[in-house]
Amino acid sequence: VADGPRTLLGIDIGGTKVAAAVATDDGSVRSFGRIPTLVEQGPDATIGRIVELARSVLAEAGVTVDDLAGVGVGCGGPLDPVAGVIHDPPGLAGWHAIPLVARLEAAFGIPVHLDNDANAAALGEHRFGAGRGCTDVLYVTVSTGVGGGAVLGGRLHQGANASAAEIGHTSVDIHGRRCTCGRRGCLEAYASGTAIAARAREGLLSGRSSSLADVPGAPAAIRAEHVAFHAAAGDALAGEVWDEAIEVLGEGIANAINTFDPQVVVLGGGVTNAGEQLIGPVRRIATAGAFHPPGASVEVVLAALGERVGVLGAVAVALAAIDGPAGGAGAVAPHARATVGNDA
Ligand SMILES: [Zn+2]
Repeated sequence: VADGPRTLLGIDIGGTKVAAAVATDDGSVRSFGRIPTLVEQGPDATIGRIVELARSVLAEAGVTVDDLAGVGVGCGGPLDPVAGVIHDPPGLAGWHAIPLVARLEAAFGIPVHLDNDANAAALGEHRFGAGRGCTDVLYVTVSTGVGGGAVLGGRLHQGANASAAEIGHTSVDIHGRRCTCGRRGCLEAYASGTAIAARAREGLLSGRSSSLADVPGAPAAIRAEHVAFHAAAGDALAGEVWDEAIEVLGEGIANAINTFDPQVVVLGGGVTNAGEQLIGPVRRIATAGAFHPPGASVEVVLAALGERVGVLGAVAVALAAIDGPAGGAGAVAPHARATVGNDA
């Protein structure tokens, strides 16, 4: 069956949900399942239920472990992708030095490949999504935090400590807001969903008049999507918070473009559900700020994989590990772009 599509298992582990899917190497999802993480039960219980979930999606797809070309896992970091060990991610309390890959390999009996969720999403969008056909893709996730992953020259750029492309913790204001990392002016301190909501709450609590006060449960219940909605409706406070988040994000992405020179910047994550209200101005600010020779261009686009990005990213992690840097369909350009070359 060497000529047929390869079948892979992808597992996406988050702080609230775990998803698993069986997919083929062209990105077609054959089965999908999702369970709550129930992190309070501890890593042993969660890993046990992840194995059960995997067995159920395999059964639903009508395949066994013996049919799999590989297993990929995306998980919130920090983690060590080489050793396969999870190191206390903020969303997974109690996951201290957990040898996840060894545990899953013992359960499945075949090699398992791990990376952090932002790198997995970068690989997924590169191989199956909005960065398909490109050699140089920067992926930026804007959700609870701001994260990133860079595919450069067709392969994921890990860095010396597997923490490359953490653009959420690049600063655009040395006197700016204090970030969770301790630094001032990080993108994450303005543009993350957490920061957008916090700044709107601060505005309300300082006595600003705003339609955000009408959100049921406000100010505690205010979320980034409320800010986006009320900004679009013309509310001044929501507009200021949203516009500054967009400006910081756009300028930070311009910095990243100047650092990595990607063909395309792909934005995903929950905050990007705002759609054109986000990507339009971010694209304008980022491309205006990028330092480029005349005639050069970079695309700034929304992610294409939607809710499937977690599991397809995990599948792409496995494919990248199995095929090496230049292998697989993801490295073959299906449509022409202005490019410096393709080493496939
Ligand atoms: Zn930071």
